[in-house]
Amino acid sequence: MTCVIAGGGPAGAVLALLLARSGVEVTLLEKHADFLRDFRGDTIHPSTLQVLDELGLAGELLKLPHRKLYEPRMVTDRGEIALASLRGLPGPYNYVAFVPQWEFLKIITSAGERYPGFRLLMRAEAYDLIVERGAVRGLRYRDESGEHEIRADLTVAADGRHSVLRERAGLVPEEFGAPMDVLWFRLPWQDGDPEDSFLRVSTGHMMVAINRVSYWQLAYLISKGGFGRLAGAGIDAFREPVAALMPFLANRIGQIKSYDDVSVLTVAINRLRRWHRPGFLCIGDAAHAMSPVFGVGINLAVQDAVAAANLLAGPLRSGAPIPESTLHLLQKRRMLPTRVTQAAQRLAQSVLISRALKGRFDPAMVPRNLSKVPLLSQVGPRFLGFGIRPEHVATKEV
Ligand SMILES: Cc1cc2nc3c(=O)[nH]c(=O)nc-3n(C[C@H](O)[C@H](O)[C@H](O)COP(=O)(O)OP(=O)(O)OC[C@H]3O[C@@H](n4cnc5c(N)ncnc54)[C@H](O)[C@@H]3O)c2cc1C
Repeated sequence: MTCVIAGGGPAGAVLALLLARSGVEVTLLEKHADFLRDFRGDTIHPSTLQVLDELGLAGELLKLPHRKLYEPRMVTDRGEIALASLRGLPGPYNYVAFVPQWEFLKIITSAGERYPGFRLLMRAEAYDLIVERGAVRGLRYRDESGEHEIRADLTVAADGRHSVLRERAGLVPEEFGAPMDVLWFRLPWQDGDPEDSFLRVSTGHMMVAINRVSYWQLAYLISKGGFGRLAGAGIDAFREPVAALMPFLANRIGQIKSYDDVSVLTVAINRLRRWHRPGFLCIGDAAHAMSPVFGVGINLAVQDAVAAANLLAGPLRSGAPIPESTLHLLQKRRMLPTRVTQAAQRLAQSVLISRALKGRFDPAMVPRNLSKVPLLSQVGPRFLGFGIRPEHVATKEV
């Protein structure tokens, strides 16, 4: 039996590796020529490190230059607030590793190449499904040489939050809205700068600073749909609040010459009510777009892939047809983590982000050290590090 997967992001790449590793013939299509895209999620949480460990790949990833975050913190005008401490988590991975997503994907796809059933097609853009007698039997894609078909027993949409295949399957996600959009940009790291990544909140403004060893990856949050107004006010309307929020950046903020140096992420939270059709399954952002809050989008995508492989590798290898009820089991398993994570993101968006952007957040109302608040100090790090219902690799290598 064969599987075709559209989308070489974390969900698609991990699923392709796991299926090929367990003896399934799998084709992975990625529409871009490479994995090099700026400002994709780069936060590798303990749950994903654990999966990489189970695949023997964690060492390779952690050999790359990276930063580790053990204690996320928020810097306010009235001092610092410790949000959580991951140090007490069980196992060796008690931190979030910041590793460029393209490096992560290179490691996963290179590991896939070791298995005869793994085929990766770059610059291959899926644009339609092959549907016969009410079931999906593969997909159509285009590349430089023209249009092609791949027939498969299972077709997986892992083509991200603007999934074309999801739309072709007639599946429409339910939208939950978000109060903000995010402007991503980068500036060099300089001696004397803070070492750790942090969240900065002030009246009407909010930023995230991620130390990427040689540079800062920075996110400036704005109210939903506010980019047009900001851009209309000129680049200083952006530079000035950034330099005021993070004075150590004032000496280099001029390197942001125009809004061309800024990448706008339209934040969305949504999810499908139904993740499947006969012969067809959506996973990762194609099934549920995540807010950047907690930086867990990659991790949820990877967990979906591990759960899908655990459930589907056996039936795919055996050649038995996969009933839609089996695909529904995957949805049932992954719906709870999706719902709970999105609910927590929506709560953080309304109690912190929305209030902060409206200038209504009062840091005096928050305990200085959330990592010492009973219950929260236990639940918070586990939720952040491992999420709800962490998945483990149960497929065997053949
Ligand atoms: C700017 C930004 C910052 C983010 N920051 C974080 C973060 O810090 N931490 C975090 O965990 N999450 C973050 N996220 C979310 C995270 O990137 C996603 O949740 C995660 O990547 C989802 O993985 P995925 O594999 O489902 O989809 P994606 O990563 O979106 O991958 C989909 C892949 O499919 C390819 N593709 C799309 N259409 C087609 C097609 N028709 N045919 C073939 N290929 C196709 C795309 O090129 C892409 O490679 C961020 C998202 C964005 C946009």
